Amino acid sequence: MGGEGIGEADALTVLSLPQRDLWRLLDVTEGVRRSFKGDGVRLCSIVNAKSGLCSEDCSFCSQSRRSTADVRKYPLIEEEEMVRAARDAKSRGAREFSIVSSGFAMRSRAELETVGNAVERIRSEVGIETCVSLGTLSAGEVAYLLSRGLRSVHHNLETSRRFFPSMCTTHDYEEDVRAVRAAKEAGAWVCCGGIFGIGETDADRVELAMTLRELCVDSIPMNFLNPVPGTPVEGRNELTPFVCIKIIAMMRLCHPGREIIVCGGREVNLRDMQSFMFAAGASGTMAGNYLTTTGRPAEDDVRMIRDLGLTILPV
Ligand code: SF4
Repeated sequence: MGGEGIGEADALTVLSLPQRDLWRLLDVTEGVRRSFKGDGVRLCSIVNAKSGLCSEDCSFCSQSRRSTADVRKYPLIEEEEMVRAARDAKSRGAREFSIVSSGFAMRSRAELETVGNAVERIRSEVGIETCVSLGTLSAGEVAYLLSRGLRSVHHNLETSRRFFPSMCTTHDYEEDVRAVRAAKEAGAWVCCGGIFGIGETDADRVELAMTLRELCVDSIPMNFLNPVPGTPVEGRNELTPFVCIKIIAMMRLCHPGREIIVCGGREVNLRDMQSFMFAAGASGTMAGNYLTTTGRPAEDDVRMIRDLGLTILPV
């Protein structure tokens, strides 16, 4: 396989494989991951820098305006707290640290500058790669953060263009696409992916993979629904470990040379098959807690990676 990856028809075939083909599939995807990404694993970590109170209505999100979930709600945290969280993340082995805020966009220049100050200090005092996920930033806002030492911008498309209106009605898919293009244009490393298990079909999953290819994103974070009570997706349960493995495999085969980072929902959805995510094609994972749910202890992830004979990429 060349660096281009498989096309739509083959991607759909991967998603329709029966369980008996698991080992054959992993044999292929493990080979592709090793040849393009080697044995290194990226560990990312995040801080929820502004929680809840979001103007948007994304169905899966416990911070959305539709959610009645019992989550903490607070405005943007202080710069000092961001730096402290980055220090903790580094001590747990993270290579990259992301400052994440709820909301469609940053509220004010003052908020952006608080993040810019924290990014600069995290680079110089902590020595870890920095990422932000702050909603729809303009190219100018991204350029400002890059000038303060930022490396990456995260902004998910979440799902296919077709399924998006069933998941979110408060903004348009194209606004998210524009934000991704703006981050690329400004010169950031762009981390953009989605969430699976929210009611989308296999065709939607493949459509997302193809859109990410068109946008030339650098890194693809993959989340699997953890249906939080109080959200519209409460009780939804359509993923199995094998389905998750096939989605990761499909993404790796569509994007042989990209980073594929398995993030939220891996514990509850992959269960005892968590370590299979690397053979399926993941080149990284998120360690520690997620935005509003807790992850497993970072030491467990470090041990899993070492037990597999893989190495954690240093900063
Ligand atoms: S996913 Fe982001 S934009 Fe959507 S409701 Fe949650 S915090 Fe708001």
